[in-house]
Amino acid sequence: MSTFFENTQKLVEEAARIAQVPGDVLARLQKPDKILEFKIQVGSKKFQAWRVQHNNALGLYKGGIRFHPDSNLDEVKALASLMTWKTSLMGLPYGGAKGAVKVDARALSAGELEELSRGYVRAIWQEIGPQKDVPAPDVGTNSQIMDWMTDEYSKLVGHWEPSAFTGKSVEKGGSRGREVATGFGGFVILREFLKFRNSKLEIRNSPPEVAIQGFGNVGSNIAKLLFDNGFRVVAISDSKGALYEEDGIDIPKVLDVKEKTGIIERPRCYAVSSHGETCKQFTNEELLELSVDILIPAALENVINEANTERIKAKVILEMANGPTVSEAEKMLVGRGVEIIPDILANGGGVVGSYFEWLQSLEQKYWGEGDVLKKIDEQLVRAFQTVLEIKNKYNISWRTASFVRAMERVAKAATKL
Ligand code: GLU
Repeated sequence: MSTFFENTQKLVEEAARIAQVPGDVLARLQKPDKILEFKIQVGSKKFQAWRVQHNNALGLYKGGIRFHPDSNLDEVKALASLMTWKTSLMGLPYGGAKGAVKVDARALSAGELEELSRGYVRAIWQEIGPQKDVPAPDVGTNSQIMDWMTDEYSKLVGHWEPSAFTGKSVEKGGSRGREVATGFGGFVILREFLKFRNSKLEIRNSPPEVAIQGFGNVGSNIAKLLFDNGFRVVAISDSKGALYEEDGIDIPKVLDVKEKTGIIERPRCYAVSSHGETCKQFTNEELLELSVDILIPAALENVINEANTERIKAKVILEMANGPTVSEAEKMLVGRGVEIIPDILANGGGVVGSYFEWLQSLEQKYWGEGDVLKKIDEQLVRAFQTVLEIKNKYNISWRTASFVRAMERVAKAATKL
């Protein structure tokens, strides 16, 4: 199996071929501009950390920081590259970057987590900033961590600088709507996709049945939106495993429990139906193989791969995680008529929300949640339409069309440098 970064490089090469990007420009777009590799000391422990700035032809470097025990440089390089294509596809004046710390954050005390977050900023503060590189949350990080990072950065530069980070809490200069932005964006893209497919899509069930892998910020917010809009969410999962409820899961009930206890308590399945639970519990891998209409991987990369492709039964895959499908698996699935809505389109709502937060932070003028979501909705509908145009023009997959569109903008800007 190719690595995550190799997989991403293949997508970039294919897009460059279709967009007829000259070889020397492509070579520049494949190499990250800068790789920062450093260690962060917290008490007696040391943690490996990275920030990869992939490309800034369209504007400042933008992308999240991940805290995860399996993080590695190959992953951060791939994620940084995906950010370049995502911000371009979303029509933002940004390039792409990503950061990570190899850490099991759940094993740290709150004090250690704060120290780690501040240590990250102390290590690279001269390389980031509101017109240079603006980090945001990703897997394992949240608004509290962005608040600590913003505070640390502000201390180092000697003045309050809220536009140096996005995904902050609303109390600390974050944007209303940013917390739900990624899930909301995924919902908008799915809505547009279903509208476009209309009766041509072979949805087996009415309402459509959905399985969602991952119940962090992204998975839980899209689950709630789908539930509120009449979809039947039959399976969800977290790192401890998956729950399946034939009649559908009452997502607000799960969210309520998660808010109080921090976890999805077992062995309940939170059935919507009043005639008792038919709850099944199984693994995250089994969730991916369910016979549902829409499968939403919203956790980590490479989960749909050569090992399980043959058993994937969903008709539509909405990639809310970054890089969940490896290229070999995608070829087989698309060959079988599965429609894969790629990460850089499906989860772009997060960085679009970040862009609106950055604008508000720069102006110190704050908008209502309705305004923010409306703007995200419009931006995503535009992105969807441009992808559709390219898809039809070249008769290519959603992913290739998304990368071609993203590539056209970046390559044009890069050629002018
Ligand atoms: N981590 C998110 C992503 O992968 C958001 C990045 C950002 O807002 O800068 O798109």
